[in-house]
Amino acid sequence: MKHVRMMVAALAAGTAATVMAGLYGDTPDARHAWAVHDMNRPAPKKVAAEPGRPPSDAIVLFDGTSLDKWESTKGEPTKWRLADGALESVKGAGYIRTKESFGDCQLHIEWAAPVKVEGQGQGRGNSGIFPMGNYEIQVLDSYETEVLPDGSNKNPNYADGQAGSIYAENPPLVNASRKPGEWQTYDIVFHQPVWEGETLKWPGSITVFHNGVLVQDHWEMEGMTTHCRRRPLAPHPTKLPLQLQDHGNPVRFRNIWLREIPSRYANTTHGGPAANEADVMALRSKTAAKLYAQANPADPNKAAALHRLLEVISYEKTDARINEVKAIAGAYLAELGGLDKQKLEGRKGEIIGVRNACNVLIRNKVLPEECTLRAGLQKIIDAQGFEKKR
Ligand code: MG
Repeated sequence: MKHVRMMVAALAAGTAATVMAGLYGDTPDARHAWAVHDMNRPAPKKVAAEPGRPPSDAIVLFDGTSLDKWESTKGEPTKWRLADGALESVKGAGYIRTKESFGDCQLHIEWAAPVKVEGQGQGRGNSGIFPMGNYEIQVLDSYETEVLPDGSNKNPNYADGQAGSIYAENPPLVNASRKPGEWQTYDIVFHQPVWEGETLKWPGSITVFHNGVLVQDHWEMEGMTTHCRRRPLAPHPTKLPLQLQDHGNPVRFRNIWLREIPSRYANTTHGGPAANEADVMALRSKTAAKLYAQANPADPNKAAALHRLLEVISYEKTDARINEVKAIAGAYLAELGGLDKQKLEGRKGEIIGVRNACNVLIRNKVLPEECTLRAGLQKIIDAQGFEKKR
């Protein structure tokens, strides 16, 4: 919060402050193309997120009116039923899949186990959600699956197969199941495994909120779903249909929507585990060129010219740019040296602003500790008592 206030104060301080905005937080480095709090960093796309409605950039896969987005896994029309605004699994009809293919995604899906409770364990309200057709997030009536105080369990089951589990791999963190017949939600974040040829670079992950409760916390997949066995991960196309399971029970689904999201390896310039120095440096260079094109080294307002050039070198430090900074810095200090006390007082904010910009670059080792510009400005600030507590 303090930083936000400082930033707002800096932005409010005038035109020089506007161009110095990039020299506020720590500067770009080998793993980050942007500074901390970088005003040059592109703003995220706006998405409308109205209560009870899919986000504006979502692909609606089922809105209660049509099965148009779905087909059997043989590519034929599905025999699943459209009933009272829900998509209902039909015994023997087989799995269904989306006609469209997807990779990494955010998926919202609502489901209800049959009102009429039949069967036990895996036979009670079983279906499943398979991002890319290979990784099952279990759908099951697990409402009564719990050990009661007397040690009994009305519907015992294996933990890695109950609702919210990554089937055959990881139980849900808790059992957030509602009663059979009641609508339940899954909000899923799915990242597919990343391969380089036959070499696994990252196993991918699944995060699941069941009725708003976190049940899978960024689970990194161990394999592809099967029954009983541990089936290792294996390369597959980067886009595949989403599948829903027919396990013989009339489980219903509604409000299914999906947002495609970037792979954690798609943009290697954001820092994090996938940061690639060559990509980071290329983007920094591009930003530096863009900023330099907007800079005006001949600006009679030398402080403004300095701010722009100092920002440029925070992205890319070349001898040519450093020499330009040195030349303007020399002229700027000479100009200030010719001003009387009153005139210097009138430029207090500007002088402190340039000194602060130098400090950011020195702190980040873009400029040396013995930077002449900073030393010259600090001398004026001290002599004028600009930062003396009153
Ligand atoms: Mg299942």
